[in-house]
This record gives sequence, structure tokens and C-alpha cells, in this order.
Amino acid sequence: MSASLDIPASHTDAARHDAASAPLDVLVVGGGATGLAATWSLARRGRRVALLERGAAFGGNLQTERDGDWQIEHGPNTVIMKPPLYALLEQLELLDEAQAANAVANKRYVVLDGQLEALPMKPLAALRSPLIGWRGWARLAREPFIGRARGDEESLAGFVERRLGERILRRMIDPFVSGVYAGDPARLSVQAAMPRLAALEANHGSLIRGGLKRLRQARREPSPIPAAWRGKLVSFPRGLQQLAERLAERIAAQPQAALVADCEIVALRRDGAIWVAESAAGRQWRARDLVLAVPAPVAARLLRPLDEALAAPLTEIAYPPVNAVALGFREADIGHPLDGFGVLIPRAEGRRTLGALFSSTLFPGRAPAGHKLLNVFIGGRQDPEAATGDDAEQVARVIAELRDLLGIRGEPVWQRVTRWPQAIPQYELGHLARLEALDAALAAQDGLHLAGNWRGGIAVGDCLENGRLLGEALADAAVEAPDPRGGGGA
Ligand SMILES: Cc1cc2nc3c(=O)[nH]c(=O)nc-3n(C[C@H](O)[C@H](O)[C@H](O)COP(=O)(O)OP(=O)(O)OC[C@H]3O[C@@H](n4cnc5c(N)ncnc54)[C@H](O)[C@@H]3O)c2cc1C
Repeated sequence: MSASLDIPASHTDAARHDAASAPLDVLVVGGGATGLAATWSLARRGRRVALLERGAAFGGNLQTERDGDWQIEHGPNTVIMKPPLYALLEQLELLDEAQAANAVANKRYVVLDGQLEALPMKPLAALRSPLIGWRGWARLAREPFIGRARGDEESLAGFVERRLGERILRRMIDPFVSGVYAGDPARLSVQAAMPRLAALEANHGSLIRGGLKRLRQARREPSPIPAAWRGKLVSFPRGLQQLAERLAERIAAQPQAALVADCEIVALRRDGAIWVAESAAGRQWRARDLVLAVPAPVAARLLRPLDEALAAPLTEIAYPPVNAVALGFREADIGHPLDGFGVLIPRAEGRRTLGALFSSTLFPGRAPAGHKLLNVFIGGRQDPEAATGDDAEQVARVIAELRDLLGIRGEPVWQRVTRWPQAIPQYELGHLARLEALDAALAAQDGLHLAGNWRGGIAVGDCLENGRLLGEALADAAVEAPDPRGGGGA
């Protein structure tokens, strides 16, 4: 699937580490976006750190495949350019290679009554859009006068229906939530999954009033990102895996840092103030601080023998399956111009496909000349069964559902099905309470830190930033509290 990195980790100081040597400053388990960013922050500050990854390559979900002139993402397709990502790309000297998505990607389609409708991006288009309609506008006009909720945790569906009405929920929010979370708005917690939306109501009493105020504020505030990049969807010529590879290369170049692939951690224990992690191959790693940057079910499994109170909240986070079905067609076999980011399909349309990205429109070099590439998603929290069946069934199912929508005439000339049995953590009702319980249990475990896409945001950009913040905090703490044993610290 992904190319393995040829990194001379064994040449580094931290890689020579074994049970007999002084403990490392920090051990990071899990080499996805979160773990890579945390390790990079520590490594560039000279900390003795090792990143242990179960797979053969680093990047976690960031996996790009090239096959001749076809190039697909098995996992995420784009990251949003925000100030922290811009700063990271500058640091990694990767900004010059970043690709902004084709400008037509601003256009996003939603299916309404079996037809593709562009989501309105401008006020006049919004007035005319059948997605909202006069009934939707009449309902929206009431929004600023609807009182605040009592402050209890509320489902996203309940929140949107209460403030914006059932039509907006069904036609716009439901497909959006499918596209981002593969989630169920009736189960997602608005406070956990969309805290900024919840904050608009809490702080301004209205989404419309608060949204307009925030827009005006954003226009006034100077941005650290050049306008040409602000908010753009980004990838790289060799896909998002290129970002993971660059992070891994830069970490490996630090003399005090090590990257160890094919290293599955199967057990954790304490030895006084030191954390000990044991790999499936029986090797032991020792460090003062331990960061687990693995999916919640893996963290739960590792932590259960230490304290059930750590494992229980992590076990309760749902991870529904999603399949990504990449389909390559001859250009002549698709009637639709594919002039946009992609299409989202609301559940109310009675189809099982969540949506499709127009991948060859987004970035150059994703399909051979005269061909188009789609990346279609199926499964998710509301229809996990749709992700079952063999590859041929998956391909047949999504083509049957997209044929009329996109004017597909022929059969695909290239295809790939990627299965994510536990794709995306769901921030559902009770998520914040679960995190609170987890933090209370964590307080008793000095030097143990948990991070990953199951808290603080599922977007790649959130994972990178949360990883960075944790790495910086640990690097700072190491300066404030020198190693009591007088060795091993930076
Ligand atoms: C199909 C799909 C599409 C997506 N699309 C987008 C998108 O377009 N844009 C976007 O911003 N986000 C998207 N996301 C979300 C995003 O990819 C993830 O939230 C993010 O990449 C998670 O990073 P992470 O480091 O927290 O976890 P992961 O990427 O899951 O990394 C965890 C790492 O831990 C390793 N590991 C696990 N167990 C062990 C162990 N015992 N010992 C050692 N290592 C271990 C794993 O091998 C893995 O490398 C998508 C996700 C999926 C599944």
C-alpha cells in the first residue's frame, strides 16, 4: 500500500536504546499524523525521543498509492491550510511543493430529489437555491429569535433542527456530517463534534448573528498566511503521504531521535518513575514520558491492565467502518463535467453511498490523460452494513448508485477498494463526559499522555496541531524539571 521509508534509524542515539541504557525523555507510540507531529516537536528541541510504529511506514491514515498514472489516497484526501499547517510546512521546507486544490473545488454538490445541486456559496445563489427554498428561508428568518438551550449536551440533529429547522438538517447538515465523520447527526454531540457551532449559540445567542460577527472579525484580523493560501484545501504531488514522509525524514535527521517501524507495542508497565513499553518482538523501551498516539481501542487494550478506569471511556468511543472505492473512468464515459470538489448524498435520498470526491478535478496528476478519477465513500455510522461484501460487490453497489447522478456510461478501467474497519472515531453524546472521566484517571498516571483523532478534532490538521502542542508541552516540561537521575535529559 504505502512505500516504506528507508530511514537509518539504527544510526541514531535513541535507536541504540535498550533496557540497560538510560531511559529516553519521551516514547511516542503510533506514527500517524498525531505521533509524527509530537515527535517532531520533541526532536527539533533536542529531546531524546523514539517513535514506535506498528506498520512498515509512517503516516497512519496518510497513505497514498501510485499505480502508473493513477494516484489515489486510501485515507484523507486534503488538509485545510490554516496558520499551524502553514508554519509546519515552512519548517519542513514543504511549502513550495504544496498544491492548492483546483479553484472549481469551491463548488460542492448535494443530491436533491435525484439531481445534483450546487451548495450556494454566495447570498444571491442562496436565495435561489432549491436546497433551502422559501420554506427554509422562512424558518431561517426565525433563527436569531430562538432562545438558547439550557446548557445540557445536545445531539447535532437536535441542535440544528431546533435552530435552523428540519429542512436544513436533512438537506445540508446530514450530508456534511456523512462527508466528514461518516457519522449520525442524531448521535453526534454538537458540543464535542462541532464546538464552534455550539459556541456561536452560547456566545451570541444566534448562529446567524454570531456567524456574521465572526466573519467580520476574521476579515479585520491580520492573517499569518498569505491570502492565496488561506483556507485552501491542500495536498502534494505525491499525495498526503509526502507530508508524513517529510516529517519522518526530518525526525530521523535529528541525532537524539529515532523512528522505529514494524514495532507493535503490546504491553506497558511502570518501573518506578519510568514507563516501559514492550514490543511484539520482545524488545523493551524505557522513558520518563509515554505518549500513546494510537486509536482509542488500541489505547484501551494497552491500558486495561494498568487501570480499568483508563480503558473504559476509550472503549465506549464508536468507530464505524468506511470503505473508500476509487474508480477510474475514460473521460468519454462520464457525462457530468465533475466541476467541483465532489458530491454528498443525504440519507433522505434513499441511497447508501455517502458521497464521492472528484479526485482528478481536485489536483493534477491523479489520472492518466483522457481519464477521470472518483473516490467514493460507503458505510459509516448510519449504514455500516453497506461496507460489507467483497470488492466486486462494493464497486457494483457504488456504480449503480452514481450512474444516473454522474451520467456514467461505461465501466471503470481502474479500481481499488480500501477498507477501514474502524475508520473515524465518533464524538457522540457522552463524549465530553468520557474524556473527563479519562482525564481524572490519567491524573494518577504520572508521565502518561494520550492523544489522537478521538479527541480535539478528527481533521489531519487538528491531529498535527494537537500533536505539536503536546510535544512542545513535554519539551518545555523537560527543561523545567531536569532529570532527577542526572542523565538522559537534553
Ligand atoms: C477514509 C478516511 C478519509 C479521511 N479523510 C480526511 C480528509 O480528507 N481530511 C482530513 O483532514 N481528515 C480525514 N480523515 C481523518 C484523518 O485521516 C485522521 O483523523 C487522522 O489522520 C488520524 O491521525 P492519528 O495520528 O490520530 O491516527 P492514525 O492515523 O490512526 O495513526 C495511529 C498510528 O498508530 C499505529 N499503531 C496502532 N497500534 C499500535 C501499536 N500497538 N504499536 C505501535 N503503533 C501502533 C497505527 O499503525 C497508526 O500508524 C479521514 C479518515 C479516513 C479513515
